[in-house]
Amino acid sequence: MSGPKTTEFAQLPAIDRLLNSAGAAALVAEHGRSEVKRVAQRTLADLRTAIRQGQAVDSSVAGICLAVADALEQDARRDIRRVFNLSGTLLHTNLGRALMPEASIAAVVEVMRDASTLEFDLASGRRGHREACIEDLLCRLTGAEAATVVNNNAAALMLTLNTLALGRTVPVSRGELVEIGGSFRIPDIIERSGCRLHEVGTTNRTHLRDFDAALGAQTALILKVQQSNYVIHGYTASVDERELAQLCRAAGIPFVVDLGSGTLIDLEAYGLAHEPTPMETLARGADLVTFSGDKLLGGPQAGILVGRRDLIDQINANPMKRALRCDKMTIAALTALLRLYQQPENLVERLPLLRIMTRSCREIRAQAAALLPLFEQQLAQVASARLVDCASEIGSGALPDHRIASVGIGLRPLPSAGAPDQVLARLAGALRELPVPVIGRVHRGDLLLDCRCLEDVGGFAGQLRQLDLGS
Ligand SMILES: *Cc1c(COP(=O)(O)O)cnc(C)c1O
Repeated sequence: MSGPKTTEFAQLPAIDRLLNSAGAAALVAEHGRSEVKRVAQRTLADLRTAIRQGQAVDSSVAGICLAVADALEQDARRDIRRVFNLSGTLLHTNLGRALMPEASIAAVVEVMRDASTLEFDLASGRRGHREACIEDLLCRLTGAEAATVVNNNAAALMLTLNTLALGRTVPVSRGELVEIGGSFRIPDIIERSGCRLHEVGTTNRTHLRDFDAALGAQTALILKVQQSNYVIHGYTASVDERELAQLCRAAGIPFVVDLGSGTLIDLEAYGLAHEPTPMETLARGADLVTFSGDKLLGGPQAGILVGRRDLIDQINANPMKRALRCDKMTIAALTALLRLYQQPENLVERLPLLRIMTRSCREIRAQAAALLPLFEQQLAQVASARLVDCASEIGSGALPDHRIASVGIGLRPLPSAGAPDQVLARLAGALRELPVPVIGRVHRGDLLLDCRCLEDVGGFAGQLRQLDLGS
C-alpha cells in the first residue's frame, strides 16, 4: 500500500478515543454508549473505504462525531413519527388513517401506564370479560344482540368465514370480489379462511336468481362485500340486501355483510354523502355485519362484528379468536370512542375525523391565506405559492365517489428553477425533511398542500423557516 494512504488510515482515531471525546459526550448521553459505538464503527469503516478509493476525508474527531450524529439522526427518522397529512386524503392508510379523539388518547395513556381492569370485574372481584364493556356499548349503539372486536376488519372477516363456513362454500357476487390495499383480496381471504368461493353473477350485474341457483347443501352463508374503493357506473344491478336476507332465511344460512367502513351516524345530516351503517344493514336482515374501527368510525384499528348472539358466540369460541383479539390499548381507545357516539351533539367537536370532514371552505381558505406569505418567503427563486380550490377525498375505501370541496396551497415550480418534475420532487423532498414532515400531493403541475386536515397551524408555520430547498 502506498505511503500517503497508510498515513491517512493511521490518522483515523481509535474507537475509544472517539467515544471518550467531548464531541461524543452528548451523543452517548442521548443514545447510549453501545449504540454510538456501533454507528461510530460503521462510520470509521466507511471512511476507510473512502480512503482506499482515494477520496479526501475529514478524519478529525470533531468531524467524525458530526458524521455519527447525522447517521444516528437519519436512523431515527425511519422510526414511525408524526407527519402533517396535507395529501388531501383524510383517512390515508399509509399515514395512519383516523386521528384519535382526545378521550381515546387519554384512555390509552392511562391503561399503558398503570394496571387496569382489562379482564377483571370490579363488582365481584373475579375475572371479567375483556370485551364486556365494548359489547354493551356496541349493542346499545347499533341495536345488535351481540358484538365482538378483533384486530382489524380483515381479521373480522377471516374469523367469521373460518368459524361459520370452514370447508364449505361461500357465494359472493362477481361485482364484489374486490382488492383492498394490495394484499387484501376477497377471493384470497375466503380461500385462506378455509372456505370455497362460489362466484355469482357478473362484474356489473348480479340478480337474486343467480344466488338462488348457487345455493346448495355445501353453502355455509351468503357474503355481501361493500364495494368500498371503487364504483361501477352504467348498466349495473345488484341484489337488494332484504332479498338476500330473505333467501338466506329460507335456506337456513346466515347472511353476512362486510361493510368495510362503518359509521354509527347519518353522515347526510352533516352534509356528506350517505354511507351505509351497521344499524341499517342489520335492519335489512343481515345476521352479522363487520366493519373497521379506523375508517369512518374515526377510532383505533379494529374489526367490529355485530349481529346474532349465536353467531357471535360461535365466533368467540373459535381458537383463532385468541390470535386475533385486541390488546388493552385498542380496547381502551375504542371504549372511549364509543362513549363519544353516545353524545352525538358533541361529536363534531370531539371526533377529529368528523370535525375535519365538516370544516367549512371559508375557514380553510382563511387559514391557508395566512400561511401564503410564509411560503412566499421560503420559496424564493424556486416556486410560487397561491391558493388553489381543490377536493379532499375520504380514503381507505370510504365513500369512494364522494369529494369534499377544500382549499390548498399550490406550490408551482418557476420556469427558471429547472425541469418542473425535478423541482416538484425537490419541493416534496424538502417538505419531508422538516422536523415534522409535511406530505402533500402533485396535482396539475403543483405540489398541492390540501389544508383541510391542517389543525396545528402554529406548529406548521413555526417550522416552515427550516424549509431547505438547497441551491
Ligand atoms: C377496508 C376494508 C376491509 C379491511 O379492513 P381493515 O380494517 O383495513 O382490515 C375489508 N373489507 C372492506 C369492504 C373494506 O373496505
